[in-house]
Amino acid sequence: MTQRDRTTSSPDSPVDVIVVGAGFAGLALLRSFRDERGLTVTVIEAGDDIGGVWYWNRYPGARCDVDSTDYSYSFSPELDATWDWTERYAAQPEILSYIHRVAELYDLRRDITLGVRVTEAVYDEQADLWVVRGDDGSVVSGRYLVMATGCLSAVKRPDLPGVEDFTGTVLHTADWPKDKVDLVGKRVGVIGTGSSGIQVIPEIAPVVAELVVFQRTPTFSVPAHHYVLTDADRAAIRTELPARRERLRRSSTGLSVPANPRSALEVTDEERQAYYEEQWNSAGFGFLLAYSDLLIDQAANDTAADFIRGKIAERVDDPATAALLSPRTYPYGAKRPCVDTGFYETFNRPNVTLVDISASPLVKVTETSLHTTTSEYGLDVIVFATGFDAMTGSLLRPDIRGRGGQPLRQHWASGPLTYLGLASAGFPNMFVVAGPGSPSLLGNVMVSIEQHVEFLADLIMSSRAAKTPVIEAEPEAEAAWVAHVNRLAQGTLYLAAASYYLGAEVPGKPRVFMPYAGGLRRYRRECEEVAADGYRGFRRTSTAEGN
Ligand SMILES: Cc1cc2nc3c(=O)[nH]c(=O)nc-3n(C[C@H](O)[C@H](O)[C@H](O)COP(=O)(O)OP(=O)(O)OC[C@H]3O[C@@H](n4cnc5c(N)ncnc54)[C@H](O)[C@@H]3O)c2cc1C
Repeated sequence: MTQRDRTTSSPDSPVDVIVVGAGFAGLALLRSFRDERGLTVTVIEAGDDIGGVWYWNRYPGARCDVDSTDYSYSFSPELDATWDWTERYAAQPEILSYIHRVAELYDLRRDITLGVRVTEAVYDEQADLWVVRGDDGSVVSGRYLVMATGCLSAVKRPDLPGVEDFTGTVLHTADWPKDKVDLVGKRVGVIGTGSSGIQVIPEIAPVVAELVVFQRTPTFSVPAHHYVLTDADRAAIRTELPARRERLRRSSTGLSVPANPRSALEVTDEERQAYYEEQWNSAGFGFLLAYSDLLIDQAANDTAADFIRGKIAERVDDPATAALLSPRTYPYGAKRPCVDTGFYETFNRPNVTLVDISASPLVKVTETSLHTTTSEYGLDVIVFATGFDAMTGSLLRPDIRGRGGQPLRQHWASGPLTYLGLASAGFPNMFVVAGPGSPSLLGNVMVSIEQHVEFLADLIMSSRAAKTPVIEAEPEAEAAWVAHVNRLAQGTLYLAAASYYLGAEVPGKPRVFMPYAGGLRRYRRECEEVAADGYRGFRRTSTAEGN
């Protein structure tokens, strides 16, 4: 029997829940909905295996940038008791092994169909069912549709003329081949210096003959302080784990680094420099929490940005290269900040060159070269580290249609409209995990995912128990939430950067700040209040057939 035979429903035998995506979110939904709530669930995944981000992003150097201990499921003491991370930030193969272990422990694979991309999902108002089609022609139907399609999963490939003529190898970090790619002695060009570029560049520089890095916008990066965990580290983590998990659940960021409540401007220059130095030497991603106003006050932000630029100047030998690597056009943290291991120092290597493509843009690829407006670079391998159509890409690529056949693409034509980041008016019984309107990428995404899964499971079960299983965001609640999300962003420096939070990474995408900037703690509280108030803002009704 194939996996397909075991897992799919037909329009005549609907499942309770169709989940699209088998990354961390899809797997958490399956376990919770099926094993804790007794619902029938089928998961559809485009990849040939489970894992989401950690299945696709197999590039050298890929690893999480939040401590592995915090970037893992919190629901199972049994899982915690039998899993030990080997490094502070686990590499992609280890995270994928962890995901496989979870699937094995909870027997998840039997309800997952792999290798099928959902191309269409249509709400059938007569039957109050979602009818979902895959690119292999398969059709499944279910009462609820949960899009666990990932905030960073719709790969963005730059539209460079001539790529198809290139006789060398073309790679994308987010779709890296499963087989080992031999870069030894090759001339490699990497396009992009965001999170993925910053990880892949130092990793491959020592083995390639020549590395040309094409940078459009420099990134603020602070040292990851990555290390191998010792037995003593692991013992200490194990002892503090329950308390640590609870702290993360109640935190604003989902990070274990404590947030400093003080303003950067209320301390002396000496005190501030000393504190930045201390944080630089340990905090990693949490450097952004060094002072409470780094993301709301430009003058405060300037102190951190200046400090980081000073460090870049110290780490890079050539002053012109250091200047090019130093961001000056947006505040620190207004784009997702990066952590690195030796990124800046890589530019001190004789075989590495930095090319500023904001001054001389890329224009075309020929059989053997990449061309900017001013130069030609002969290459054997081109690596696109160009990221994703973030947050909405994976939700808008399939054709999703709600009441009256309205396309989600039309409803969201001017930017995503959600209530709590979880549901959209006119799309009954469709939910999104870690999507626009939720904290999502502004913190540890794992903590968001688990909160969403719990909230949705409770919402669905209570609605079914009340014999009102059709759940729909009210248009007024949606409008109020969108306004709320906008207001929260207005008070921050996030709006000062052309970031993927704002849709600026994709030409033509509406410029709307998408994530909820009030922090995880406040978001969780708002969700709890909605639930306590009878799921205020959701209209809950019986089905057209009266069930
Ligand atoms: C390289 C990298 C490193 C990251 N590191 C961190 C980190 O350290 N900390 C952090 O908080 N976040 C990190 N993130 C963000 C990451 O997106 C989340 O942490 C998390 O993995 C999201 O899980 P998910 O299940 O929601 O989505 P994903 O893991 O993206 O899974 C979504 C799945 O849906 C599938 N899918 C999408 N569309 C369809 C369709 N139409 N039909 C069928 N299947 C579909 C995809 O194939 C994919 O497998 C990182 C992201 C990347 C790319």
